[in-house]
Amino acid sequence: MIPVSQCHVVATNPSSGVVLLQFPNSFDMNWSLFRPQEFYESANDSFRGKYFSVSAYMRWYAMNEHKRKKKSPNATGFDYLDRVLGLNIPGDIFINFFDVFGEADDIRPQEQEVYDKVACVLEVDDLRDTDFYVIAYYQGSGDSSVLDHELAHARFALDPKYRADATRIVKENWSPALEKAMRKRGYGDNVLVDEAHAFSLTQWGKWFPWYLRDKQARKMRREIRKALL
Ligand SMILES: [Zn+2]
Repeated sequence: MIPVSQCHVVATNPSSGVVLLQFPNSFDMNWSLFRPQEFYESANDSFRGKYFSVSAYMRWYAMNEHKRKKKSPNATGFDYLDRVLGLNIPGDIFINFFDVFGEADDIRPQEQEVYDKVACVLEVDDLRDTDFYVIAYYQGSGDSSVLDHELAHARFALDPKYRADATRIVKENWSPALEKAMRKRGYGDNVLVDEAHAFSLTQWGKWFPWYLRDKQARKMRREIRKALL
């Protein structure tokens, strides 16, 4: 058997409570973390907050997300492992994932390795003793804006004043066009505000080019950057 540690994930702690996982490639990152990530933010209620097997998720993705993204009713596949550039998981959800999937006796070696590295970098025996936030990216995932985007999520979770300011500005400027764009990218209700704030700070033009034409979205982006950068 090939040892799982060959995926060479490196864990660091760039600021208080933030655990940054750096993977050598998109396959290792997403193959290790797609279940905790979807447990946190899947738009599908059958996965968010619940136990699911690898094959159940892959089949659902192939039959729904892949077809939708390829705009073809006959397309099936699992491009998730190439498509996702960075990941973010709040600490309490991360712990809950291991409780729920441990109960089902289905924690994969890749997932266990990540858990062990997170506990090691935070220097705690029990992750319940500390507030933390897990972010991940891989070498070659693009420019530094991927990392900046994930760091914005971590700060949103760990800094109450920052979160309150970001939430207020996003809610004051929320629009049907923004909601539609977020839903189209597959975000569930629980992360809409956080994602809108993170995209306002980073990568906005790349992923939401329509904002250049949308007055409300431009105003939101301006106010967020002024208040939080
Ligand atoms: Zn994000």
